[in-house]
Amino acid sequence: MDKLFLFFCALSAACAAHGSTVSADVAVLGGGSAGFGAAWSAAQLGSTVVLVEKEAVLGGTSTLGGVNNWEPGMGGTGVPYRVYQRLARIPEAAGIYRLDRHLAWKKPWEKYAFPGGILEADPCLTYAHTLLRHGPGMGDEAWFRQYCHGVIFEPGAMSGVMLDMLKETGRCRVFLNTALKEVRHADGRVSEMTLSDGTTVRAGIFIDATDGALCAQLGCDLMVGRDSQAAFNEPGAPPEPVMKMNGATLVYRVTPVGGTEPDRVEPLPEGVPETCWWQGNFPVAFVGVYPNGDRFVNMLPTMRGEEYLALGAEKAYAECARRVRAHWHWYQKNFDEFRRFKLQMIFPKAGLRETRRVRGEYVLTQNDLIAGLSGQKHDDIIAIADHPMDSHGGGGPGGELREAYGIPYRCLLPLKTENVLVAGRAASFSAIAASSCRLSRTMMQLGEAAGVAAHLARVQGKPLRQVAAGDIRREMADRIDQDATRCR
Ligand SMILES: Cc1cc2nc3c(=O)[nH]c(=O)nc-3n(C[C@H](O)[C@H](O)[C@H](O)COP(=O)(O)OP(=O)(O)OC[C@H]3O[C@@H](n4cnc5c(N)ncnc54)[C@H](O)[C@@H]3O)c2cc1C
Repeated sequence: MDKLFLFFCALSAACAAHGSTVSADVAVLGGGSAGFGAAWSAAQLGSTVVLVEKEAVLGGTSTLGGVNNWEPGMGGTGVPYRVYQRLARIPEAAGIYRLDRHLAWKKPWEKYAFPGGILEADPCLTYAHTLLRHGPGMGDEAWFRQYCHGVIFEPGAMSGVMLDMLKETGRCRVFLNTALKEVRHADGRVSEMTLSDGTTVRAGIFIDATDGALCAQLGCDLMVGRDSQAAFNEPGAPPEPVMKMNGATLVYRVTPVGGTEPDRVEPLPEGVPETCWWQGNFPVAFVGVYPNGDRFVNMLPTMRGEEYLALGAEKAYAECARRVRAHWHWYQKNFDEFRRFKLQMIFPKAGLRETRRVRGEYVLTQNDLIAGLSGQKHDDIIAIADHPMDSHGGGGPGGELREAYGIPYRCLLPLKTENVLVAGRAASFSAIAASSCRLSRTMMQLGEAAGVAAHLARVQGKPLRQVAAGDIRREMADRIDQDATRCR
């Protein structure tokens, strides 16, 4: 694990507060991409905020889960761009990548097709290059090479920047290493939540930016697995509901072997057979090159999502860690370029692409993705996205989108609640829609919209459902306008 990352783990642990009652205008549960976006936006606009995160660092899946890249996509302006600007000032913290090699693009001089894809930073690219995805896709190599780029970052730098930005607002108190214990509520209105360290948090508005942990305690309607066709009339949905989920991946990091160290295939640990991964049918992976030359390896996937859920976190992580060792051995044995690297770390959290989703006033569906912005009729769109449907063995449809689509504000308003917003991957999406819109920057955007909505509800003295989406958009766009001239 890199030193910066360890440093922030230690720093964050030291920041945890204990006992007593704290009050704020807005309480945010979960400090991943969405929770950070929500807390920063509300605090920056002038609301007081408490952010509660159960892990020792901020960033969630994008840091502890090893998903240390932002894929190409529309909607990465606003808060994500602010974060990127900060990262770009830190040496070796971030770069803009292009997809360098891909299994579909084997060249005649290559010994083998790359087992997946490799993302390499390119200093000629700028952040603006990362803001588009829809189009013909990877099948059209020339188009993809020219237009599709993303951001790769060091996880320690990301969690550090998030913490700094929150502190700099002067209005956000961050509880790390602290989980939600209990929610006090009546008639859909939350009054306080009790945390694992005994602290009570009181707030006017609560934002659930976890996998629905707060909403589950309120008895909200939770959706899990593939929705049936009857549920949302989606062309790609199965006739009956199916307990299948987007695949889970335990990401690992490798580092170049030192100057005098020989290239080699690292031996398998005792008890890990060469073929333990799905009878030897190994998955390909996306490999990202960090600015310091290390690489992350993101298997597609490590375990089926529903298998992860059924095993439970502890057992599933242990089994995924075995599969990581087997995968790395397979990579090194069959693709000799990997013998110049050694396994540096397995990320401490498995990456879950899908868990439960909270039903809201509107459920985003495949039909929204197909209609795109030109065909959608909603007047409350507060975020845009254009990532393909992408279910990693979860049984959903795939494919690039024709154009970007919008996510309505109503997806953040859980049914039968009064002062609660849900932002992040548990927001109100069908399983198919979630397979597209789950990217980190989209989640940060949803968080931003939730933070802005919470602030506006407070200053305008309105219930959340009466906050005008136009006002939310205006606040978000103001921030983009300020950034537009600097978007490099
Ligand atoms: C393997 C994988 C690969 C991916 N690849 C990409 C990619 O290449 N590019 C891209 O942009 N996106 C990618 N994604 C999607 C993206 O990383 C995630 O969807 C996104 O980071 C989710 O953000 P979030 O804030 O909604 O959730 P999370 O990041 O999961 O944050 C939720 C937070 O809530 C906290 N929490 C949960 N329960 C509690 C509780 N009870 N009390 C307190 N805190 C709690 C968690 O600790 C966590 O920090 C990938 C995802 C996965 C899993």
